[in-house]
Amino acid sequence: MSVPEEETESADPRAIVELFHIQRSFEQSGGPIALKEVNLTVYPGDFLAIIGASGSGKSTLLNIIGLLDTPTSGHLYLNGIDVSSATEKSRNRLRSAFLGFVFQASHVIGRDSVARNAALSLRIQGVARKERPEIVGYWLDYFGLGHRASSLGKQISGGEKQRLALARAVASGPLLLLADEPTGNLDATNSELVIDHLKQLNAAGTTIIVITHDPTVAAAAKRQVGMIDGSLHDGNPHIAEAEQLRTRREGSNRFGKRRPVRELSDLISDALTGISTSFGRSILLIVAFMLGIAGLVASTGISQSAATQISEKISQSALDEVRFSKTVPADSPDLEPVLQWVEGVQSSLSRIDGVVGAGFKSVLPEKAMTISRFSPLSLSPLPISNTSVVMVDQTFLSTNDLSISPTTPSIFATDTPTKAAILGRQAAEKLGIEPKSTGNSIWVSGQEIPVVGILTDSPRDPALESAILLSPGVAKASYANTTIVVRTQPGYPAPLSNVLASAIEPGNPASIKINTVGDLRTLARGVRSDLSILIGGVSVILLLLAMLSAATTMYVSVRSRTSEIALRRALGSSQASIASLFLLEGGFMGAIGGLLGCAAGSSAIVIICIAQGWSAVLAWWWLPAAASIGLATGIISALVPALIAAKQNPAQAIRD
Ligand code: ADP
Ligand code: MG
Repeated sequence: MSVPEEETESADPRAIVELFHIQRSFEQSGGPIALKEVNLTVYPGDFLAIIGASGSGKSTLLNIIGLLDTPTSGHLYLNGIDVSSATEKSRNRLRSAFLGFVFQASHVIGRDSVARNAALSLRIQGVARKERPEIVGYWLDYFGLGHRASSLGKQISGGEKQRLALARAVASGPLLLLADEPTGNLDATNSELVIDHLKQLNAAGTTIIVITHDPTVAAAAKRQVGMIDGSLHDGNPHIAEAEQLRTRREGSNRFGKRRPVRELSDLISDALTGISTSFGRSILLIVAFMLGIAGLVASTGISQSAATQISEKISQSALDEVRFSKTVPADSPDLEPVLQWVEGVQSSLSRIDGVVGAGFKSVLPEKAMTISRFSPLSLSPLPISNTSVVMVDQTFLSTNDLSISPTTPSIFATDTPTKAAILGRQAAEKLGIEPKSTGNSIWVSGQEIPVVGILTDSPRDPALESAILLSPGVAKASYANTTIVVRTQPGYPAPLSNVLASAIEPGNPASIKINTVGDLRTLARGVRSDLSILIGGVSVILLLLAMLSAATTMYVSVRSRTSEIALRRALGSSQASIASLFLLEGGFMGAIGGLLGCAAGSSAIVIICIAQGWSAVLAWWWLPAAASIGLATGIISALVPALIAAKQNPAQAIRD
C-alpha cells in the first residue's frame, strides 16, 4: 500500500521549528526563486546562526519561519503544529504568543516613549494595563535602559534602540526569538552588548534563530548553518546538549484569550497618541470638520427658527381668523359688483356672534397696471415690476394688526371715493420713497395717487410689507382675487367656518371657499429661509473638503508609518486592528470637529436670530447628532488609508 509522501514525514514532536521541502518563489512578481528545498529542524533551547551572502534567501527564510510570509510549497511546523496553511487570524495569534522579532533596523516608534515602545508586544498580546509596567520595567532594566524609560524613541542612540527592540521582543515571553542582522547597524561595542544579551536569553531558555554577516555573532551561536543561493548547507538537525534534559515549555496561560475591551482601549489610546503627536495636522483636520458641521447645524437652526417664527404667527391667526373667498365661473372685471358683494357679506357677518370685523383684500393683476414714482409723461417715470398690488378696505386696515407710519388712514372706506396708497416698507424702498417723508405720490396706470402712509410691520400677513396697498376705487377688482379676512374673538374660527358658507351664500354655499388652519399649515411647511439653504449648501461642500483632506493626510501618514505598521503586524496585530487604528484616528478627529462645530453653529444661530429679531430655536440633540456625523465622516475619510495600511505586507515593509 502506498502512503502519500507528506505523511511519511511526520513532525518531530520535540522540535520547536521544522521545515520540510520549503520553497519560496518570487517569479510571479518578477523575482527569483529565493528558497529551494529547505529542510531544517530546530529544538527548544537551540541558538542557531544562519550565515550567507546578501541575496541568498536568509531573510525570506526567517520571514517564513516568523509567519510573516508564506512558502510557495512545503510544510512548516511550529511546536509540532502544521502552520503552512494556517488562517491569517491564527498566524497573527501565533506570532503574538509564540514569536519575538528583532530586525536590522530597530523599528522604534520615535514619537512614543521608550517604555511605551517596549510595551507594544504586550499591548498586542492583550496583557492587562496594570501588569505591563512591571514586565516592561524588568526588561528595560535587564537591557540597561531603565533610566531611559520616559525618553522618546527618537531621542535614544542606535545601540539603545536595538536593545529596546530586544526588550520589546522578549517582554511578551516568546518561545522563539528571530533576529535578522540584529547587529547590522551597530558599532563593535554595541554589537558585543547585543551578542551578550542574546547569549544570556538563550541560557535562560529562549530558542534563538539569528541571521548574520557578523562572525562574532555567528561564533556566539551554538550551531551555524550556511545559506547559498536559496539552499541550506549543514542544516542537519542537532540537539543542543542542554535541551536533551529540558522539557518543552508550554505556552503561558495569558496568551489564551483575546480580550476585545482591552484591545479596544489600547487601540483608542494609540489613536489618541497618534492625534496628539502630530498636533498641528490634527488641529487643521478638526477645524475642517468643525466648519462643515457648524454650517450644517447653523442652517438647520436658522431654517427651524424661521419656520417657528412663521408657524407662531399662523397658529396665532388660527385662534382668531378665518379667510374665505368666492369662486365664480367667469371672472368679472368690474369693481362695483365686488364692492357690493363685500358690503353684503360684511353686513351679514356683523350679525354673527364673535365676529370682530371682516375686511377685504383683493389682489390686483400686476400685468394690467404700470406703477411708477413719477408721471408716465415725465422724462424718468421708472416703472417698477415684481411688486404685488392689493386693494384693501378700512376694516382690513384696522383688524390686521398693521403698523402704519405716520398713522392708520381713515379714508379706505368702500363708499368714499378717496384715492390713496399705502406702501409696504420694501415697496417704498423700491420706489425710492423715504419712510419718513410726506407729500409723496405714485402713478398707477396714469392716475396720480397720494401716498398716505408706509406699512412698517405686518405680522399676520408678512407679504404685505413688500406690496402696494390701494384704497377701494383705484382700480378694477374681481371676485376671483378677493379674500374676506374675518377677525373673530379667540376660539371662534372653527365653529364659524362651519356655518360661514350658508350664512353668506344661502343659495350657493359651494361657491365659498374657506381657508382652514390646515391650509395655512401647508403654507408654513413650504416656507424656507434662503439663508439656511445657502449655508447648508456651503457646509456640505466644506464637509466634503474636510473628508478629502482628512483622507489625503491620513494616506500620507500611513505611508510614513509603514515600518511602524509592519512592526505591529510582525508582533501579531491583525489586519483588522491596524485598520481600526486609522479608522479610530479619523473618527476621533471627526467627532471632536463635530462637537466644536455644534458649539460654533449654535452661536451663529443665536447671533443671526438676534439680528433678525427672532427667538432662536436650539435643540440638545444636535450635540450627539453633530458628534455622530463627525464620527461617521471621519471614519469614512479614513476608510481608504486604513485599508491600505491593513493590506500592507509585513515582510515587505520590514525589508524596505
Ligand atoms: P538575504 O536576506 O539573504 O539578503 P533575501 O531573502 O532578502 O536575501 O532575498 C533573496 C532573494 O529573493 C533576493 O534575490 C531578493 O531580491 C529576492 N526577493 C526577496 N523578496 C522579494 C520580493 N518580495 N519580491 C521579489 N523578489 C524578492
Ligand atoms: Mg536579509
